[in-house]
Amino acid sequence: MLRVAVVGAGAAGLCAAKHILSSPSSFAPPVVFEATGGVGGTWCYTEHVHEDGRPVYSSMYRDLRTNLPKEVMMFPDFPFASHLSSFLSHQEVLRYLESYCQSHGVQPHIRFNTLVEQVKPVVVTTEGVEEKTAWEVTSSDASGRRSMETFDAVLVCSGHYSDPHIPELPGIEHFKGQLLHSHSYRYAEPFSGQSVVVLGAKASGLDISIELAKAGARVTLSHGNPRFTFPLPAGIQQASSVVAVEDDGSLRFQDGSLGRADVLMFCTGYNFRYPFLDAAQLGLEVEDHLVTPLYRYMVPPAFPSLFFIGICKIICPFPNFNCQVQFALAVLDGSVTLPSRTQMEDEVREDLHRKLDGGVQRRHLLKMDQNQWQYCEELARSAGFPPLPPVVRSLYEEVWRQRQIHPENYRKLNYRLVSDTEWEAVD
Ligand code: FAD
Repeated sequence: MLRVAVVGAGAAGLCAAKHILSSPSSFAPPVVFEATGGVGGTWCYTEHVHEDGRPVYSSMYRDLRTNLPKEVMMFPDFPFASHLSSFLSHQEVLRYLESYCQSHGVQPHIRFNTLVEQVKPVVVTTEGVEEKTAWEVTSSDASGRRSMETFDAVLVCSGHYSDPHIPELPGIEHFKGQLLHSHSYRYAEPFSGQSVVVLGAKASGLDISIELAKAGARVTLSHGNPRFTFPLPAGIQQASSVVAVEDDGSLRFQDGSLGRADVLMFCTGYNFRYPFLDAAQLGLEVEDHLVTPLYRYMVPPAFPSLFFIGICKIICPFPNFNCQVQFALAVLDGSVTLPSRTQMEDEVREDLHRKLDGGVQRRHLLKMDQNQWQYCEELARSAGFPPLPPVVRSLYEEVWRQRQIHPENYRKLNYRLVSDTEWEAVD
């Protein structure tokens, strides 16, 4: 039986542990290492932005409502409670993850307040013959006591929304107002009456701009796509990207215009960070927005018993994790045979080049968007588990469409799944 370590007890780690526990003939119960005192990762809201002098892990803000309805956000085999409306508060998502954890008996296998410090491959030899790679996992508990254990495989489920990405802005030292990243944004009231430039108009930038405007801030939503304009509520104007700060502290925008602000808020995403891995040793490059080469966006070709779960962006996260985990376990239990190392490296290289040649910027290479459905389907086909029901894609795409048209109001709708292929909007 294989011993598997899981790093992190957020949605991805809980999903990994659940599936490991449901295959007791192939896997020993997992060891889930969790740095904090609870499950849920991102969904553990805290008002604080620092704890014990260190930035807190979660980037959750107080009034967030999910940008996906519960009908597609859920793990496909574990629906949210039926009385909840489609778009959820962070408390409701956290309760769901806690209940997922309890229902599948995962809790006893989690080591809370235990930080993974190092995950290192070691070659196990028997009678002088090189046999296979094992993984030494070094962790420290709340009292600082360190221990090392060996596993057959590691699933990295440590998330990627906690290390703020702040783009370089020439002259930023001249800015006289408040600088912050959405990682440290909690609620809008303190910004009432202030002028706030929000840089970045992805999910958080857009949502936070709407919250700020409702609280009486004068918001400029600054973003890079000049043709992309949203019908936004009063109090929000749009501008091109901030590209520099002038000596007098004013902001210079891409179109050459200048503006002043009390607050410059970066909604510019997060960096990948794996302080417990030696990327070079694993044959990996970890950049701010990219980890490569990863076969099927999961497996380093040189170390096919290490898996990264959940690193793709613009996906339907929980269903995607559910597919990745099942594929990873099928590789480990031998029901899927991976191609050779060279073939995996070639496939990853070809995929990256195809995207780069098609005009995709390097920092967007892990964005899946439309490709996520085929990706999940291929994982399901090769590992022999049920594919996502077509209704997930159809409702996900409808909600995206609604979000483009009504960014302020699309969450007022409720949905119901009628079958594997059909959904309906309900009052
Ligand atoms: P996380 O939730 O980040 O969990 C990772 C866990 O690993 C954490 O508990 C952390 O403490 C632990 N960990 C990290 N490093 C170590 C270590 N070295 N040792 C031990 N433990 C470690 N998704 C949706 O589906 N719908 C939404 O509406 C939605 N809204 C979002 C809003 C915001 C503001 C953010 C930031 C994300 C949102 N997401 C949403 C995406 C969300 O991140 C994913 O849905 C999902 O929760 C990510 O789960 P995860 O397990 O990959 O990572």
